[in-house]
Amino acid sequence: MAQSFGVIGLAVMGENLALNVERNGFPVAVYNRTAEKTDAFMKNRAQGKNVKATYSLEEFVSALERPRRILVMVKAGKPVDAVIQQLKPLLQEGDMIIDGGNSLFEDTERRVEELEATGLRFIGMGVSGGEEGALNGPSLMPGGTRAAYESIEPIVTKIAAQVDDGPCVTYIGPGGSGHYVKMVHNGIEYGDMQLIAEAYDLLKNTVGLNHQQLHEVFTEWNTTDELNSFLVEITADIFTKLDDEIREPLVELIMDAAGQKGTGRWTVISALELGIGIPTITAAVNARIMSSIKSERVAASKQLNGPSSQFSGDRASFIHKIRDALYCSKICSYAQGMALLAKASDTYNYDLNLGETARIWKGGCIIRAGFLNKIKHAFDENRQLPNLLLAPEFKQTILDRQEAWREVIATAAQMGIPVPAFSASLDYFDSYRRDRLPQNLTQAQRDYFGAHTYERVDKEGVFHTEWARET
Ligand code: NAP
Repeated sequence: MAQSFGVIGLAVMGENLALNVERNGFPVAVYNRTAEKTDAFMKNRAQGKNVKATYSLEEFVSALERPRRILVMVKAGKPVDAVIQQLKPLLQEGDMIIDGGNSLFEDTERRVEELEATGLRFIGMGVSGGEEGALNGPSLMPGGTRAAYESIEPIVTKIAAQVDDGPCVTYIGPGGSGHYVKMVHNGIEYGDMQLIAEAYDLLKNTVGLNHQQLHEVFTEWNTTDELNSFLVEITADIFTKLDDEIREPLVELIMDAAGQKGTGRWTVISALELGIGIPTITAAVNARIMSSIKSERVAASKQLNGPSSQFSGDRASFIHKIRDALYCSKICSYAQGMALLAKASDTYNYDLNLGETARIWKGGCIIRAGFLNKIKHAFDENRQLPNLLLAPEFKQTILDRQEAWREVIATAAQMGIPVPAFSASLDYFDSYRRDRLPQNLTQAQRDYFGAHTYERVDKEGVFHTEWARET
């Protein structure tokens, strides 16, 4: 009997998704370029399951029922094109390739166009949740034609994480929209992680919490409506882990140089191209870049002294203020991510449903959080909401807490503790809420040195002035 689903690429994500699909009642065929990995998978993880190993793409394709549904989980970039080119001549009209890797959305646009023109179908599907999500229920962001989505809907709605209001998957939109949304999801994830890192730095280096206390504070924050989330939960856990040999907190033994695979950077590049400010996410990408010049920082630390001021306020109350600052900053970060999605939706005709996007991030993925309910609600109430900061759910919260937020950032500045994402968020808020910014001066300068002209606030028209004083 033919298998109903195929998976190409048996690294961690492909293996786990194959097992997830099989567990949900769909017989699977698998193929991996390196045959030894297929053998290892069959021996170690797929024994006794309805998984058929294949050792050539011809064998793989003929093991699948028609129309074929083939998930490609290989390294993003050229390998995806290589696999598509090898598969294409073996497939028939109506067969579908689903790219579940972290592909650049522009590559996906190109692949959708190319394959749909030949009568094949192509879905670019963002998969979030890492290896654990892939096995037990990820958040899935499929984009492509609606007809293509409908033919995988019975499978993806079963394998996705399930939350109170349904599976964490929905039809995202046409073309590369699925990968676009996944890219912004990852940008938001960068923002969340950086904000939590800054909260940790502040808790440790202003009020001087030890690891047990850090664990307790994050555990307590994780019980709140506002901050309850996977990332806060694992952060609390991390502080309890001691190194097996020297019995010190493992987190302090880890090199402070963060890696990145590119989706955060892509988000920033896309935002710049679309003209949408995402300063918190940009700050998060920059923070990883700054962290990576470790040896240069170590050398600089011996020459460039910061302030020597000590924290002198009330410790318990300052911990609450850090929590408030974290939450306000997080709201700003999501406001930026959602504004970027809205702009991309307009520009690329994705017709994104932002409320539904927030809903499918509620389970399975790394940024899953109770807070996403509020975002879903905000966009369900008003699909045209210009910015999350204006939603009743968030507006009052920020107004009530801005004093604490400002105090935390001011204290950090006085003590020489960098809080790039906290500060970028506050700057975003202050820029967004001000009816007048100093770019009148920028315009004057541009007109002065380049005759770029300017508009005026008191009358219509385009103006130019000869600025240089006559001598
Ligand atoms: P990966 O390390 O990105 O890729 C390894 C897989 O790609 C192997 O199966 C490898 O086959 C195959 N491959 C590489 N070049 C190939 C080529 N030219 N032709 C055919 N196959 C080729 O694997 P992964 O971590 O499981 O990730 C898969 C995709 O999911 C990536 O796009 C990744 O960014 C995305 N993703 C990963 C995570 C995660 O947590 N890891 C989460 C979400 C999304 P061989 O065994 O023959 O080398």
